[in-house]
Amino acid sequence: MNAPVKYVYAFAEGSRDLAGLLGGKGAGLAEMTRLGLPVPPGFTVTTEACKVYLATGEEPPELAVEAATALAALERAMGRTLGAPDDPLLVSVRSGARFSMPGMMETILDIGLNDRSVTGLAKASGQERFAWDSYRRLIQMFGHTVMGVDGDLFEQAIAAHKARRGTTDDHGLDTGELVELTEEFKGLIRRETGEDFPQDPADQLARAIRAVFDSWNGERARVYRRREHIAEDLGTAVNVQAMVFGNLGPDSGTGVTFTRDPATGRRGMYGDYLPDAQGEDVVAGVRDALPLSALKSIDPRAYVELRDHLGTLEDHYRDLCDVEFTIERGKLWILQTRVGKRTAEAAFRIAHDLRVDGTISSDEALMRVDGTELTRLMFPRFATTSTDVPIAHGVPASPGAAVGAAVFDSAEAVRRAAAGERTVLVRRETTPDDLPGMIAAEAVLTSRGGKTSHAAVVARGMGKVCVCGADGLAVDPVARRFTTAEGVVVHEGDTVSVDGTAGTVHQGALPLAASEVGSALENGTGSGSLTRAVLGALAHADSVRRLQVRANADTPRDAARARALGAQGIGLCRTEHMFLGERRSLVEAMILARDDAAREQALAALLPLQRADFTGILAAMDGLPVTIRLLDPPLHEFLPDRTELAVRLASRAHPDPHDRALLHAVERMHEQNPMLGLRGVRLGLAVPGLMAMQVRAVAEAVIRRLRDGGDPRAEIMIPLVATVEELRLARTETERVLAEVAAQTGTPLDLPIGTMIELPRAALTAGRIAEAADFFSFGTNDLTQTTWGLSRDDAEASFFPLYLNKGVFTTSPFETIDQEGVGRLVELAAQAGRAVNPRLETGVCGEHGGDPDSIHFFHRAGLDYVSCSPFRIPAARLEAGRAAV
Ligand code: ADP
Ligand code: MG
Ligand code: MG
Repeated sequence: MNAPVKYVYAFAEGSRDLAGLLGGKGAGLAEMTRLGLPVPPGFTVTTEACKVYLATGEEPPELAVEAATALAALERAMGRTLGAPDDPLLVSVRSGARFSMPGMMETILDIGLNDRSVTGLAKASGQERFAWDSYRRLIQMFGHTVMGVDGDLFEQAIAAHKARRGTTDDHGLDTGELVELTEEFKGLIRRETGEDFPQDPADQLARAIRAVFDSWNGERARVYRRREHIAEDLGTAVNVQAMVFGNLGPDSGTGVTFTRDPATGRRGMYGDYLPDAQGEDVVAGVRDALPLSALKSIDPRAYVELRDHLGTLEDHYRDLCDVEFTIERGKLWILQTRVGKRTAEAAFRIAHDLRVDGTISSDEALMRVDGTELTRLMFPRFATTSTDVPIAHGVPASPGAAVGAAVFDSAEAVRRAAAGERTVLVRRETTPDDLPGMIAAEAVLTSRGGKTSHAAVVARGMGKVCVCGADGLAVDPVARRFTTAEGVVVHEGDTVSVDGTAGTVHQGALPLAASEVGSALENGTGSGSLTRAVLGALAHADSVRRLQVRANADTPRDAARARALGAQGIGLCRTEHMFLGERRSLVEAMILARDDAAREQALAALLPLQRADFTGILAAMDGLPVTIRLLDPPLHEFLPDRTELAVRLASRAHPDPHDRALLHAVERMHEQNPMLGLRGVRLGLAVPGLMAMQVRAVAEAVIRRLRDGGDPRAEIMIPLVATVEELRLARTETERVLAEVAAQTGTPLDLPIGTMIELPRAALTAGRIAEAADFFSFGTNDLTQTTWGLSRDDAEASFFPLYLNKGVFTTSPFETIDQEGVGRLVELAAQAGRAVNPRLETGVCGEHGGDPDSIHFFHRAGLDYVSCSPFRIPAARLEAGRAAV
């Protein structure tokens, strides 16, 4: 028989290994309890209970009993009873999913207060105002989160009281006003919902737990999960915890801190502290917080204790941690910890420092960083000079350089982004409702809040540029403009540059310069701590990875760049780009040729040009493989547009005969579905002399390089093969030309000849195809199109957004390989191919070759290499290393 399911865990029963069940927050609370840190006691309702609730609309029946038992134990431990009229126990009800979703779900504080216990709390604490302030907070949070009343209505009521009082600070309201406000709030709830604010503490608790479950499916939580690729079915846990109070006067307060700087990774406590405040006041940026260092003088004992606890947590988690804490009348309480989000820069520095310390191994250090972060570090920075005077300074919360039009609300950012415009979202402070705008914008700029504000935390998590708490910035969302301390006015639509590294804002678009890491990787220059950290991680990745990394490069320049970035050859050298520009007329001549002689003449003119292309590329990749793909796209791509030609002809009194011939050719070659038409190997077999010319150009380039003392390693690749017969014909022709050149030059030529696998039929008959191939290169772009039966260009613009929204897929299959479909074909083909030809080389040359998740898949599939654009090579090396750890 199965052990009965347990839906409730006391903090003392859990541990960090149970994060799936207890959520990140619950697991952290449990772990800290075990470590002996001062955590207010409580219990966690599991994600399993949430899943049952979400699936059936009802809590599992056992939950009520288990929760009641856990509550009774908590009451015993605290020596108080939930909501008792004299000296009540109060609790918080806190959401907490497996993966951190900062501010996305609900938390309700001060559960247990009602019309009677509020006076009990006043008496027990000796502070009437505090008790009524807590009660009004509860009604406000409960009214909004649990009962669904518009939060603005409460805020308006508070604002009216403040106005009457002539104050702007919450602290300006006295007990009498808070009592009145409480009554008004209750009336508001009655009016809006037809129901009274529940007075029964047990009822409050049960409904709060359910509201947290429901918040899993709230709009903003869903948006966040989609963006972060967090699964929809994990559910959230709920933590019920005894309240401690940071709002009991100047010897109390609340704060958030990191064990290292989350922006740069440098060592040292970094955080914000807000005296005499409760709950989310710090994160929300409601009042300006003090830097954590201020606590040193306010309460030196608590400061030292906090520092010790942070040390304990870092040692224990062996990573950067962030911590939420509260001080109640000089007593420090830790309310949350987790391994903290950090910028890419901080991720590399921290991993490096911990490895050098001996805290973590090289393998672990490698797993602490990823390719996406590395790519982010390679992006350019602003090339600021002393003459570029910033118009504002703020906290450098999330680094990088962003240029865009200033916008003043989330919707405008979304609107403009949809129209392809880059924007900078400017807000006083952000709330979870701003999430869509933050996703759409290039950067976020706020006038309030520090490194732990909502804007900072969320932007860092997304890798967005963020400057927050900009000094003296007056943001006017109604007039849609902001004014700087010096009186510079920036209106909606004006271009601004935001430097998240320096924490500055500039008017207009600043010029960009290569990043330190980017130049270090490309030129081997630079010796900063960040560069050292990145190079260290890459060196380890290179030493452990099994996948080789090649580049997709069509020019000597790209090839040289790719090589500098660590490419081990070229996996895809496309030849179509070599037929554009001035050479177009030669291609036209080839297409228009009426007889063999004319065609041969055109091809002969192309030959030396192609030979020079290949010679340059082989020189840049000397000693490394260069896979050259014979011409692939449909020929009409080299001809002018049909309508344009027709218009041009019609508008002339004496039409150009060349144009007329071209139009005939275009009409003759018109295809309904050109991507499924005369292209790839079909073209090579159909146009006499074309393939021979290309092969000859490769062969002669190889000979030249050999004569120059080089080590050319050209490989010839036949595209779009569906059956082995095609490949055999192409191979015979290729070998014939190679033999011819070899005979003419007296140099033996033994070039590998292989094929792309980019049609389902090729993948399914890979065993046959391998009989005629020296290598397979998976063209996963076309393979994805043909397997799914959709055209990438059309689909991405039309129904992909809908499909992503409906969860048909979580990422575009063109970005990350569809493992169970397209990936299955790759595995099948690689296995079948190797079974026939054990020396068969296998690689990937589609976009997926540079995508982190896809790289892990190709590693598991046992391929030999991935090939990607030069800029993505360092990230691919890193990910190939991580896949092998
Ligand atoms: P989030 O996941 O959005 O950070 P939390 O559950 O951490 O939400 O709650 C937000 C804040 O509420 C915490 O940072 C803490 O300051 C306050 N809080 C939560 N529980 C308690 C408690 N038991 N006592 C005092 N403050 C609490
Ligand atoms: Mg929190
Ligand atoms: Mg293709």
